[in-house]
Amino acid sequence: MSKKGNLIIISGPSGTGKGTVCKKLLMKNKNVFYSISATTRNPRPNEKNGREYWFTSKSDFEKMIKENKLLEWANVYGNYYGTPLDKINDLRIKGIDVLLEIDTQGALSVMRKISHGVFIFLLPPSLKELKRRICGRGTETKAVIERRFGAAVGEIELGKRYDYIVINRNINHAVEQINAIITAEHCKTNNNLKILDRVKNEEI
Ligand code: ADP
Ligand code: 5GP
Repeated sequence: MSKKGNLIIISGPSGTGKGTVCKKLLMKNKNVFYSISATTRNPRPNEKNGREYWFTSKSDFEKMIKENKLLEWANVYGNYYGTPLDKINDLRIKGIDVLLEIDTQGALSVMRKISHGVFIFLLPPSLKELKRRICGRGTETKAVIERRFGAAVGEIELGKRYDYIVINRNINHAVEQINAIITAEHCKTNNNLKILDRVKNEEI
């Protein structure tokens, strides 16, 4: 039987590069499944329902909360975002790693619920560069940019609660580091106790 897949949580302030890094990681590592979140925010011009997000009405989102269909949810910069529970366990039992790209409130809520997640904080190289990236993306209004950037210092403060900090200066380097973390987590003693026993008890 294959080992259970890990739950990998990547978070960090808006504009640090989570989406960009996750897309590259998924191309590199085919054993990772990206959990598509539900959100009440409007799609950006290049976004498709069921690819970046499940775009949902406020009432449908609140129904999912009531029916306990979300692993976690948060109100992020004025909109609801949440991780649907369905699929996550089935995939992990099949040995597939599940990747959540969520905000820091969501990550803290998963930390409270699950002790065995792999929590990775994606840090921008500087606040100046973070601002350049949020503005450069060109998808938000000035007011939304200010709101997101205004939350960044508080979110960075939470980085110390994570298992790993990866600096996203160079995209390829950050992706390599995250992939190395994923590989190392598979070699953790706790994830290999069954195989250890099997080899030890093998009849020869
Ligand atoms: P997030 O998902 O964290 O909000 P995005 O992935 O949308 O961030 O990235 C924000 C902007 O920063 C995008 O325009 C993206 O192309 C750019 N970006 C991401 N990573 C880097 C990097 N390492 N160097 C330069 N620009 C980057
Ligand atoms: P954006 O609107 O830029 O796509 O995302 C805004 C923020 O919401 C980002 O920090 C993103 O990681 C976070 N986010 C996306 N999906 C989820 C989710 O399912 N749960 C939580 N808590 N945050 C999410």
